[in-house]
Amino acid sequence: MAPVARSCSCRVVNPRVVIVRPFCVTGILRLASPWSIVVPTRPAARIACRRVTPGRAWDAARRGSTGRYGCCVSSTPRCPSCRRFVYLDTLVCPDCTTEMGLEVIERRFVGIRDGRAVVDGVTWYTCSERRWGCNWLVREDAPAGRCFSCRLTRTRPPADDTIALEKLATTEEAKRRLLLQLGDLGLPIVPWDVWPGGLGFDLLSSRSEGRRVIIGHANGIITIDLAESLDDVREALRVRLGEPYRTVLGHLRHESGHYFQNVLIRDDTAWAQCRDLFGDERASYQDALTRHYETGAPAGWQDSFISEYATMHPWEDFAETFAHYLHIVGTLKTAAAIGMRLDASATRRDVDVVPEDHYDDQPIGRVLSDWEALSQGFNRINRSMGLADLYPFTISPPVRRKLAFVHELVTRAPLTTDEQVALALAPRERADD
Ligand SMILES: [Zn+2]
Ligand SMILES: [Zn+2]
Ligand SMILES: [Zn+2]
Repeated sequence: MAPVARSCSCRVVNPRVVIVRPFCVTGILRLASPWSIVVPTRPAARIACRRVTPGRAWDAARRGSTGRYGCCVSSTPRCPSCRRFVYLDTLVCPDCTTEMGLEVIERRFVGIRDGRAVVDGVTWYTCSERRWGCNWLVREDAPAGRCFSCRLTRTRPPADDTIALEKLATTEEAKRRLLLQLGDLGLPIVPWDVWPGGLGFDLLSSRSEGRRVIIGHANGIITIDLAESLDDVREALRVRLGEPYRTVLGHLRHESGHYFQNVLIRDDTAWAQCRDLFGDERASYQDALTRHYETGAPAGWQDSFISEYATMHPWEDFAETFAHYLHIVGTLKTAAAIGMRLDASATRRDVDVVPEDHYDDQPIGRVLSDWEALSQGFNRINRSMGLADLYPFTISPPVRRKLAFVHELVTRAPLTTDEQVALALAPRERADD
């Protein structure tokens, strides 16, 4: 790692944030450019001019973070005109017909006129994928007409495949929800077109491709089969595989777990802890796959794993646990936004159960205690409507320890809003520059 040259124009924004070009070799920096990248670092360390990777951004954050939380969708999303509640995918208010878009930095809905909105002196435009349901806005200085979420989609169905594009719209909606949650948690997202291991999505339809599309993750790229947005396809698979829960959002959370395992675990100590809990991920994946589909999960798997699939290989155990962590804290956050509160007399506890917007300063015990009460309540509500349980899983003591490990990784040092925005707005440069 080369030290910073004196001539380097990397800019110190505050004691722990420096703006530096992502692939800076000479130290030349476009200081005023909004496409410079922000890397959190220690006050005295400045930063070496080096490639920015998700892991390195995370390392730097861990060293220097004050732990301040990034931006959150902390309150109920509302129509900017009539203030009624709206869902995150709303394009037009059902009450007052105001056209709206989501300004993703402050996480607020704003009214749209002629495809644009001015927020605090900055013009935001509707995403070029709005006709396919994307309601995110694009800042005036963005390099393309696609929003951050749509930009992360590396591969998509061709423009004339309208059937597949309709399925893409459903999947993109789940993807935006995932990205908002990752942002709320302060997790680093370096786009695939900034760094070769960065996060990206190949969204393909097995129906259109005429071949099987395998859902998975490889080197930052998450592949999703758009056919799974069809209820009959997904439900048939769920039944055939004997799974209690199968959703597109669940796939996205699981696959993002593969991505973040390599991003968040950065040293030998953490890897040793991880192997202690999940097993050695260096074991043959192919052998594990063959074994899993020949013999299934071992008897008594519920005592140690969150799902049958988690038994397949340590990679899958971590990804499943990570997905469940996102299920749990995401749903608790929604419960907090709704204003839910379980009275102590109803739960037979000493105190009311009050879900939190975030749990970054709380032990995993508090998270799981709240979740135990809330998920039981949600399951009862679902059953009263004749539906399957909302959360059809049992969290055993070993799974609690795995979730504690993920909680520690995620909450160690969340990136601030500025840091996340800068990573998101990093320039598109050739990875091999
Ligand atoms: Zn309205
Ligand atoms: Zn978009
Ligand atoms: Zn997996």
